[in-house]
Amino acid sequence: MPEKKPNRGYFASVLSCRCPRCREGKLFENTVSISLKKNLRMNNVCPVCGQPTEIEVGFYYGTSYVSYVLTVALSVATLLAWWVIIGLSVNDNRFFFWMGFNAVFLLALQPWLMRFSRSLWISWFIKYDPNWERNQPADVSERMNAEQANNW
Ligand SMILES: [Zn+2]
Repeated sequence: MPEKKPNRGYFASVLSCRCPRCREGKLFENTVSISLKKNLRMNNVCPVCGQPTEIEVGFYYGTSYVSYVLTVALSVATLLAWWVIIGLSVNDNRFFFWMGFNAVFLLALQPWLMRFSRSLWISWFIKYDPNWERNQPADVSERMNAEQANNW
């Protein structure tokens, strides 16, 4: 029996915050929102294949490093774009205008960046399973601790 091709590639799946195991189910309950609580509320398990979205206590703790790296990379990208399109000089304030623009840009992107960091993070730990319809997701219950689940 030929393996079923995924509907999404790796990057499309990560960018659209889909479950890394089936690349179908959504990781988050709501659409992107400026309400922090609403924005980061995740489905406990993937609504399509049943993959748990939190695979150990404090699983998403490391995402702050991911979003930090992404933020630095985006700042470098906007600085380069600014340099090419608008130009930079030590004789005027264009650099400071870039700093203002970049701060606003990153703030506006923050709700999406936080979700994208989690999506990227979980994609490094859970592999795509072409037979997700037939296989069961790995049991992670012994790595979880209900009492500690919301302490992060
Ligand atoms: Zn899934």
